Amino acid sequence: MPRGLAFQARARFPLTHMPSGKVHDKITVATAALAAPAVWLLTPSHDPLTSCAAVAGYVFGGLWMSDDLDTHSVAYKRWGALRILWWPYKKLVPHRSWISHGLGVGPLLRVAYFTLALYVAAHALLGIINTWIIPLNRDDVLRQAAIWLLAVLSRHQSLAAWALGGLIAAGIAHGALDRAVSTAKKLW
Ligand SMILES: [Zn+2]
Repeated sequence: MPRGLAFQARARFPLTHMPSGKVHDKITVATAALAAPAVWLLTPSHDPLTSCAAVAGYVFGGLWMSDDLDTHSVAYKRWGALRILWWPYKKLVPHRSWISHGLGVGPLLRVAYFTLALYVAAHALLGIINTWIIPLNRDDVLRQAAIWLLAVLSRHQSLAAWALGGLIAAGIAHGALDRAVSTAKKLW
């Protein structure tokens, strides 16, 4: 490429700004729409509900459970007031480390972290309710909630597995894109 054109290409698509949160968002939505028919073909008996669970898991994984929750990103801000749940993650996990961006392991660790964060938040909230509003046994409430959640998950194992698969795929797509852009930057 002539020097002038190369400069123009770099100026229009500055690699240091890519892939931004918005680029990741657009790619997530576009790839979800493109992959939906293939997912439908892959699901057992071509079940539309299972396909929707997989695509919803992918979109949720890309837009909300993004690898970039390890920084003050579009995905982090998208949680609104609930971003407080991700604040320790953002503070503790180094940006683009294997903990957040590891292919496969990143999304699984985020699911584990989020489950723990929800538990801690529910524990604190029930403590406040117990102290200020109505007496209750919060350990009992949390145990019942866990039993109910496990029962729902075991009743809908296939849907849950496909949704989790979609969520993991979104994390892999994000990590792969970041790696591709980093490699392109080195080669450029
Ligand atoms: Zn990233």
